[in-house]
Amino acid sequence: MSNFTLTILGTASALPFSDRNPSAQALSVHGRLFLIDCGEGTQRRMRQEHLSFAKIQAIFISHIHGDHVFGIFGLLSTMSLYHRTGKLCIYAPRNFGPVLKFFMSWFGQELGYEVEHVVLEAKSPETVYEDKAVRVSAFPLNHKIDCYGFRFDEVLPERKPSPLSVAVPGRENRKARSYAYCSDTAPFPQLADWVKGVDVLYHEATYPAGLQDKAVQYFHSTTEDAARTALQAGAGKLFLGHYSSRISDFDSYLLEARGIFEETLAVNDGDVFEIK
Ligand SMILES: [Zn+2]
Ligand SMILES: [Zn+2]
Repeated sequence: MSNFTLTILGTASALPFSDRNPSAQALSVHGRLFLIDCGEGTQRRMRQEHLSFAKIQAIFISHIHGDHVFGIFGLLSTMSLYHRTGKLCIYAPRNFGPVLKFFMSWFGQELGYEVEHVVLEAKSPETVYEDKAVRVSAFPLNHKIDCYGFRFDEVLPERKPSPLSVAVPGRENRKARSYAYCSDTAPFPQLADWVKGVDVLYHEATYPAGLQDKAVQYFHSTTEDAARTALQAGAGKLFLGHYSSRISDFDSYLLEARGIFEETLAVNDGDVFEIK
């Protein structure tokens, strides 16, 4: 089976730590690499995980809070130093435009490739990227500024039934795999429908349940908020991340979510998962 591999590059929220970097993940689908968020230090994290800059097919930015985007400009420069020539599409909300424009006005001439900002502005899930291996849809989240989640659905090759074809064991009923990334968000009713049935749901859980007031104040989620969304969505597994520096006890943090949705993991920088 071809790969559908998720590498966790960063799990911190606003403050980076010695063992936790700001948000970034890499999803490898059939050899194509998709970068999801790009917090400070992402290019060094990619190096540590032996991920190739040359394989980056597209970048998806949920929103322009620094812990999700500060790493992109160094990465753009590095890809040029590695002689990238193919166009790079960055899928990001409209307010990323002026930030990219400022960077390009100073450093754009030195890039050896074209950068296109594909503006995200849909009010409900919309396909923003599609090739023969994967379809990516973006959907709005409920954060302080415009923020988007992403759902990656594997596209299986069509198999035309033939009277001469021989069944290959394990292949007959293979279903398309799926992954959804819900970055910074407060819970809201439609979200579970938008990520319905995903094999793996990453959902931020910045705070433990006891800090619900902080979650509401800053448009974030708690362990229990994330677990309820996973339960309502019928997700296969729930991955938690975007940890606040206020979390003191990760065991009870995880138990809070598992009390609602058993198949929950609190992921760490450097975790690699083959999604099945
Ligand atoms: Zn954040
Ligand atoms: Zn944010």
